[in-house]
Amino acid sequence: MLQLYDSLARETRLFVPGDENRVTMYVCGPTVYNHAHIGNFRAAVVFDLLFRLLRRRYGDAHVVYARNFTDIDDKIIKASKETGEPITAITAKYARIYDEELAAFNCLPPSLKPTATGHIAEMISLTTRLIELGFAYAAEGHVLFSVGKFSDYGRLSGADADERLAGARVEVAPYKRDAADFVLWKPSKDDEPGWESPPSWKIGGRGRPGWHLECSAMIEKVLGATIDIHGGGQDLKFPHHENEIAQSACAHQGAPLARYWLHNGFLKMGADKMSKSLGNVALPRDLLKKHHGETLRFALLSAHYRQPLEWTDALIEQSKKQLDKFYRLFADLDHSESVECPESVILSLEDDMNTPEAIAGLHELRDIAMQLDGAPRVRAAARLKAAGALMGFFAEDAKDWFKWTPLSESAGLSSDAIEALLAERAAARKAKDFATSDRIRDDLAAHGIVIEDGPNGATWRRG
Ligand code: AMP
Ligand code: ZN
Repeated sequence: MLQLYDSLARETRLFVPGDENRVTMYVCGPTVYNHAHIGNFRAAVVFDLLFRLLRRRYGDAHVVYARNFTDIDDKIIKASKETGEPITAITAKYARIYDEELAAFNCLPPSLKPTATGHIAEMISLTTRLIELGFAYAAEGHVLFSVGKFSDYGRLSGADADERLAGARVEVAPYKRDAADFVLWKPSKDDEPGWESPPSWKIGGRGRPGWHLECSAMIEKVLGATIDIHGGGQDLKFPHHENEIAQSACAHQGAPLARYWLHNGFLKMGADKMSKSLGNVALPRDLLKKHHGETLRFALLSAHYRQPLEWTDALIEQSKKQLDKFYRLFADLDHSESVECPESVILSLEDDMNTPEAIAGLHELRDIAMQLDGAPRVRAAARLKAAGALMGFFAEDAKDWFKWTPLSESAGLSSDAIEALLAERAAARKAKDFATSDRIRDDLAAHGIVIEDGPNGATWRRG
């Protein structure tokens, strides 16, 4: 029984998909013009966990998860003007980096990764329908959505109209009939990317889509009119998701955009939200040089996804220590089994992704294994491994886990160099040259490398 807290209904609800053979989820992805920060990654990791839970329940082939790339946007145009790099070079580069970094966090690739520029025709078609149905109007090169025409507007964010206007702090453009109306399409200057609009809009010239329109059009195209789950960070509730809801419902005779709305809480630095505008960000790009991606994933999942989480060095250290304890158990076993994930951990995760409880469950499974020996211990460890795997943990081979070093420290002695020294030592021992073999052992020890001689030769780990 999967229960999810639905931000629109404001309650925890039993998850029932529209079609068990095609469960659909959409998460608003990054605007690709610079490096993501670890706060952005919280959403990606949380919804990766949900993707894994859905796949377990409905089967891998029956879950479609789409996460977009916003690759046309004022910030991208600005970055291109500043650096002189073409827009497509910038967006391709940062999309690739985003995917690579998320892979290091053990995030599965989404089933679909639609791009905004790949769906301009769909955005134009959606806008045309909204104009024809009377929900949108053209003015001074823009097309605007008439918020007053959608009676449910504001239901997700809950604020009343005045609060929303104050919160949005928008400068009221003269071409808006109502200050709350938002842009579907806007004119492009000659040196900006743009697309011709249909003559029926009667605005002439080239233009480009607004951000909110992009998601509604991509969802309609790749997933359908009504999807099962729509996710994102809680800051996207207003205006972004409110506007997505309005556009999609009005284009689809009132059919809801999503059956369940999920929002993750903020990652914080001290008392503040981590954000580019405040400049208090930590980047996965830098963090991954110092910490294993799985450690960072563990840190992000240590709090319940709807609670704020403070990002600190202590949190990362604690996460590493906990993972070390689990991996130590796996490393001490000379074989492993494959078993089902224990029910207790599934229950925690299916209870609105209660990851703190699920992690406590992992520790209990470890404690049980530690009290056993022989085959029962192997079996208990396998249960722990299966439970962790459902959360995207324990993807490393235990031996490799302890060999992993931060980039900065491994510069002196790479794994390859260590393997080469071990081979040299083995040859020396075979030749009974114990002076040499002892010297190599001491050299490695000076680098913090521990050698363990076993029946199948020597193994090593970073001590
Ligand atoms: P942005 O690049 O600001 O559009 O954000 C991309 C995604 O990251 C959105 O889903 C945001 O809600 C989310 N996000 C941004 N900052 C944070 C943060 N400090 N904590 C959690 N999520 C965040
Ligand atoms: Zn969106």
